[in-house]
Amino acid sequence: MAHTADSLANPPDIIVGGDGVEITDVDGNRVVDAVGGLWNVNLGYSCEPVKRAISDQLDKLPYYSIFRGTTNDAVIELSTMLRDFFEPDGLSRAFFTSGGSDSVEVALRLARQYHKIRGESGRIKFLSLKKGYHGTHTLGASVNGNANFRTAYEPLMPGCYHIPAPYTYRNPFNETDPQKLAQLCLSALEDEIRFQDPSTIAAFIMEPVLGAGGVIPPHESFMPGVREICSKHGILLVSDEVITAFGRTGSWTGARHWGVQPDLLCCAKAITNGYFPFGAVMVAEGVAEVFEKDETGKGSIGSGYTYSGHPVGAAAAIACLHETERLNVKDNAAARGKQLHEGLRKLFMKHELIGDVRGGHGLMCALELVADRATKAPIDKATIGKVHRTAYDNGTMVRVSGNNIILSPPLVLTEGHVDTILNALDAGLAAAG
Ligand code: PLP
Repeated sequence: MAHTADSLANPPDIIVGGDGVEITDVDGNRVVDAVGGLWNVNLGYSCEPVKRAISDQLDKLPYYSIFRGTTNDAVIELSTMLRDFFEPDGLSRAFFTSGGSDSVEVALRLARQYHKIRGESGRIKFLSLKKGYHGTHTLGASVNGNANFRTAYEPLMPGCYHIPAPYTYRNPFNETDPQKLAQLCLSALEDEIRFQDPSTIAAFIMEPVLGAGGVIPPHESFMPGVREICSKHGILLVSDEVITAFGRTGSWTGARHWGVQPDLLCCAKAITNGYFPFGAVMVAEGVAEVFEKDETGKGSIGSGYTYSGHPVGAAAAIACLHETERLNVKDNAAARGKQLHEGLRKLFMKHELIGDVRGGHGLMCALELVADRATKAPIDKATIGKVHRTAYDNGTMVRVSGNNIILSPPLVLTEGHVDTILNALDAGLAAAG
């Protein structure tokens, strides 16, 4: 998110090359990309099988729709691969989209439609977490839990309600124990469901680890608790895994990380390593069956995109999935994520600017920077800008989001790359402190 005036005053760095886990700017500076593109370039910038699959598919069939009565061989093969990949999550069917915001939109629409087919047409509301991010379409923006992505576009969709996030550093309960906080947030969810009347709620959507909101991992009891509450009230659980699917948390999916099976799962981003815009909603067999066995006439899905199941995207995703599994990137994400998180905790001992260090679940970490540790007053824009710029000058691109430094590097980075990131941040924090 950037203000137009800021972009004019501070023109963006022009990136001209990518190689391994590094990017090169127009002035020839080469840095480790600790942002991983935008949480999506999990396999780095030199993933030849994905590049080749894209170019081969362009030669073979550059486009055909899967809209009415046609499909393509790439998307058929991908459907089978995704069914096998998501089988432990209890998800067997794929609905294709062109990106993460589309996936969220489709998942929420399918949730409402599912209830309508089953004769529960009053189930139209959605619940979600404050601090959650679910993309930029209107349903997604309506369930977003960050004012920055909402207020300029209001009025958004009615019927969307938010509960407190299990954000240990700042929460309305002033609770610092993660497990107790998780229980308080679960109670808030139960309260809201009762207040709204369970028979009016279609779905609860959540990220297994809040990402764009500042990398906020919940206590391990939280998502299983959400699952239990949703099941009890007939509410569908949508796991928004646009960031977490395909290994980022150190597990193949975020839901699996917490031992939960969702009803619907949104994915995009790393499904093609970021090389082609593509996404999918994975659907549990029980949900898919309601559509397939529909005899009410309410089951036909009006959510197709021109680029749903794009053969080039599907070919890229097939190659990407093969590489993702062949390299077993989830294990490297877990190991390097541990190293990164431990390194960041050491920086906490050294730099007063760091108010909170978050991570510990694969390669998604954040530093929340404050002007004063006692009051937790967020650091100002100029100071965090200095951290960013100095880190860049020391060989690492990091992402600034509000008063957070967010780290989501490619999952194939090495121990040495993690050291580079930590040294660059050390220099950045020293320069700004
Ligand atoms: N959902 C989550 C959890 C995301 O992090 C994002 C993007 O960062 C989206 C949805 C939207 O995805 P896209 O930007 O591909 O539309």
